[in-house]
Amino acid sequence: MLSIGTLAKKAGLASSAIRYYEKAGLLPRAERRNGQRVYDADDLLRISLIVKARKLGWSIGELRRAGALAMPAFATPALAKNELARKRAALKLERDHIDARLSAIDGLKDCACASLDACGHLRA
Ligand SMILES: [Zn+2]
Repeated sequence: MLSIGTLAKKAGLASSAIRYYEKAGLLPRAERRNGQRVYDADDLLRISLIVKARKLGWSIGELRRAGALAMPAFATPALAKNELARKRAALKLERDHIDARLSAIDGLKDCACASLDACGHLRA
């Protein structure tokens, strides 16, 4: 059995993050002993997966929707591959949108128009 402090240390998180993940529905309600949350190895695995997924760009909402509680999305290498491919495509699309905005901003570099309203550089 692990205390929240030990679990947090092993996962590289603050205890408050673990309480937050529980509140947000990413973790099952932890068992309490004498009013203190206690965890086991499965909880550590689940939290490690959440930490990895967060680093790869999954939001709390996405993890909740993907059923992070049971972690079905990452339960097997095949499913994980599927999820990773989906996330990669979404990030690529996001990058394309950002690139388009960067280009639009770069296009305004030499703008000397009186106002953005009147700017011909904005009409792509
Ligand atoms: Zn202009």
